Amino acid sequence: MSDEPVIELRRAAFGYEDRAVVGDIDLTIRRGEVVAVLGPNGSGKSTLVKGLLGLTELQAGTARVLGNPIGSRPARNGIGYVPQRHTLASAVKATATEIVTMGRTVRTPWWAPWRIRSAGNRALVREALAVVGLGTLTDHDVATLSGGQQRRVLIARALASRPEVFLMDEPTAGVDRGHQQVLVAVMRRLVERGATLVVVTHELDALADLVTRAIVVSGGRISHDGPPQDVAPHEVDHIHHEGEDARPRSPVPTTFLPTTGGPR
Ligand code: ADP
Repeated sequence: MSDEPVIELRRAAFGYEDRAVVGDIDLTIRRGEVVAVLGPNGSGKSTLVKGLLGLTELQAGTARVLGNPIGSRPARNGIGYVPQRHTLASAVKATATEIVTMGRTVRTPWWAPWRIRSAGNRALVREALAVVGLGTLTDHDVATLSGGQQRRVLIARALASRPEVFLMDEPTAGVDRGHQQVLVAVMRRLVERGATLVVVTHELDALADLVTRAIVVSGGRISHDGPPQDVAPHEVDHIHHEGEDARPRSPVPTTFLPTTGGPR
């Protein structure tokens, strides 16, 4: 962790139209931190995370990402977002490769859109899928994949964009235990290479070794901000998700992991 703030919120409020859902948010997240965002359903976790992307409205205060106003292009392009699965509508007709290729859009010049299919990008996309254990399903229609597999497609898409900050909304939900371990290993390597992770989760246990700080959102306010071991169990409502499937998992390639340094 360095002292450099990557996310800075001052008395920020986010919401929809006229209704503020979360407010009074003072939060500084520094490079290399792994922040778990915890709290009961409906408390405003997703609204807060989407606010960091400029997807929910900043209704009060100030908010900057990587030194830029939230919602601005440089702020947006510095973030890899892993949405909840239901936003990858099963109606989407696309292969895993096509979805992950979308992650390269932010690194492709607008005046040369064909470059998204460059050999370099194709290799990055293949590797991102392999890293999350989907190397054999690259050409499968995402609608035919299990919930946990779809979630791993979205994680691969974020990896392929090589962002400095990852915002992940329930990345391990519905992912079987073996692949959860794979994802934790991927996340660890990202942090080692200088990324910052903000992870909404009901499964703190799955990420316990990794998380350096826990924020509890309740009733639209931050009610706890500190070491994860200090979070009282009653502050967080735990939800148990079903396993994704019992299929054998693919090995994690060790030769490649997306990095936040190096070529983009
Ligand atoms: P959490 O992620 O903690 O479950 P959310 O941020 O999804 O909570 O929801 C917090 C509140 O915001 C809820 O009352 C929810 O109804 C409301 N909300 C969520 N999405 C929208 C939306 N698109 N428009 C209006 N209200 C919303």
